[in-house]
Amino acid sequence: MTTRRKLVVGNWKMHGSHAANADLLQGILAARPFVGEVAVCVPFPYLSEVAVTLANSSVAWGSQDVSAHAQGAYTGEVSAAMLAEFGCRYAIVGHSERRAYHAESDQLVADKAKAALAKGLTPIVCVGETLEQREAGETEAVVKRQLSAVIHTLGQCIGEVVVAYEPVWAIGTGRTASPEQAQAVHAVLRAQLAAATPRATEMKLLYGGSVKADNAAVLFSQADIDGGLIGGAALKAADFVAVARAAG
Ligand code: PEP
Repeated sequence: MTTRRKLVVGNWKMHGSHAANADLLQGILAARPFVGEVAVCVPFPYLSEVAVTLANSSVAWGSQDVSAHAQGAYTGEVSAAMLAEFGCRYAIVGHSERRAYHAESDQLVADKAKAALAKGLTPIVCVGETLEQREAGETEAVVKRQLSAVIHTLGQCIGEVVVAYEPVWAIGTGRTASPEQAQAVHAVLRAQLAAATPRATEMKLLYGGSVKADNAAVLFSQADIDGGLIGGAALKAADFVAVARAAG
């Protein structure tokens, strides 16, 4: 059996301020070392200060989105090359909030993953079904369709991405997928990846959706769950550190 190092990523969403970020990062840094890998994905304006605070620490940082384009007349977008200049390690792509509020298609998400990889960033590709889709028995078909666009676009490079399964009905709702529900979808995703790359057994598959200190350990102990993408619980150092420790 392959041993995959766990990864816990905080998604700050549109939260933060200079003062709050400094407190949060100091709290995370003070809790080192972590057994697993830890990263924070922060709003674009804070990348610079986060890069300075986390330089030479074991905590990585990333963005919450990236443009599919390399450069040009794309007002408001941020390219992978720009993120790479800040030392970004990760770029979240296809978060359900972007799919829902910015009409991001499966193909656009795949193109963003490709653009990130081209500049040395690791895309964290989010997939997940809505409550309506789950209740209609469409969970497997939805996540496979979302992942398939990325596999098709990246080819063999699919082995370099992190995949995050985030059921939309569990994000920010306090309603978590049971460990069995989450594992079942992760197993489907791992099998789909295995058909595309021999590296599937090394790839990290994260679970996201109301992960907290009291449910993280059991979720992270599932065979195909290699850590988490954390929203609400990533905004307070004590909460985030407790989740990161659950990955140890
Ligand atoms: C997320 O935003 O990716 C997320 C999982 O949020 P929360 O942990 O708050 O459900």
